[in-house]
Amino acid sequence: MNIAIVGIGLVGRVLALNLLKQGHTLTLFDKGSKDGTSAAGFTAAGMLAPFAELETAESIIFEHGKRSIQLWPDLLKEIGLFDGYKLDGTIITAHPQDMSELNHFIGTLKHKVAEAEEIEVLDKEALTNLESDLEQHNRAYYIKDEGYVDAQRFMMFSGNYLDMRSEVSWRENTLVDKIESGKVYINEEIEVFDWVFDARGLGAKEHFSDLRGVRGEVIWLEANDIDIIRPTRLLHPRYKIYVVPRGSGCEGMDIAYCNECKISQEPGSKRYIIGATEIESEDTSPLSVRSSMELLSAVFSVNSNFGEARIVNSETNCRPAFRDNLPRIENEEKLTRINGLYRHGYLLAPAIVEKALNEGIYA
Ligand SMILES: Cc1cc2nc3c(=O)[nH]c(=O)nc-3n(C[C@H](O)[C@H](O)[C@H](O)COP(=O)(O)OP(=O)(O)OC[C@H]3O[C@@H](n4cnc5c(N)ncnc54)[C@H](O)[C@@H]3O)c2cc1C
Repeated sequence: MNIAIVGIGLVGRVLALNLLKQGHTLTLFDKGSKDGTSAAGFTAAGMLAPFAELETAESIIFEHGKRSIQLWPDLLKEIGLFDGYKLDGTIITAHPQDMSELNHFIGTLKHKVAEAEEIEVLDKEALTNLESDLEQHNRAYYIKDEGYVDAQRFMMFSGNYLDMRSEVSWRENTLVDKIESGKVYINEEIEVFDWVFDARGLGAKEHFSDLRGVRGEVIWLEANDIDIIRPTRLLHPRYKIYVVPRGSGCEGMDIAYCNECKISQEPGSKRYIIGATEIESEDTSPLSVRSSMELLSAVFSVNSNFGEARIVNSETNCRPAFRDNLPRIENEEKLTRINGLYRHGYLLAPAIVEKALNEGIYA
């Protein structure tokens, strides 16, 4: 089929990779550029945390999350991103005075799914054995089947891969005004396709009246004296943060700049994403002073060596969400819409796309 995908952010890219495998010809529309930097999928930390997200999410997110974790390796292999996925587990910890937060958090997970009974408690020694740079903490939990996708490199590599495919035609910097069954409207012109996928995230508000944006801010740090391997969450009554490692650059990269993923870095240093705020607002203006103080003071309390880290970047974007914070697949004749992945885009996209392609009228 001759298929259009509108919105080549996270969902659009995962859709494109799947549809190419099925032998279709694709036209990709995005209001931003091919590098995907306007998408929430570019701002994301890429955490794959089906257990930890259960604190606030429904068990359906858990089930789809587990499926996505199975699907990510093949998607990443397809685009040549061999070191863009880590599943070494995550650490959840809290300060001694906040132990009740930690116990409540784990209690909630166990209440929601039986598999959470297997989450391991770590005392100080066990924690230090696993993550020596978390030695300041006396107690933590270790969730072994969790990890992350290197979101920024996924966006970059998938963009390059799609660009090279002869079956793909890119229409970047093209704002789509409206989508209808088999039709894409641009500046009052109509383009007709055998099928259209609407993956515009927050840009699909012209269709979904109950879609909202949830502002999220992250800070990128570069540190020489800290080596945290696993995504780590610090629970706190007011500021819950995560620290997601981004390593020291691409595999085999011994130079300060990687031509493939366009990331420059001090050789020998490690990068971390500190995030993320969650604010009921569609404002995508830069990081606020309040948010930066909250994120940075919390990360300093994870390990005081973060005090000497360098702030190399900050990003803001909005998560597309419905009122129930659950993803939605909508099917019409010659049209499928996928939206509402909220704070779970990386956790859900491969499984939701699989579901849409298997169950939709499209199938
Ligand atoms: C700070 C932050 C941290 C996050 N961390 C995580 C995490 O750790 N783990 C996780 O699983 N998820 C995380 N997420 C959530 C994840 O990023 C989103 O759920 C996901 O990106 C949503 O995917 P999407 O494709 O629907 O939207 P997007 O990725 O935003 O893509 C939408 C695309 O549509 C394009 N578009 C919009 N309107 C139009 C139009 N009219 N015409 C043409 N193109 C259009 C946009 O330019 C964009 O490229 C995070 C999000 C944020 C903001």
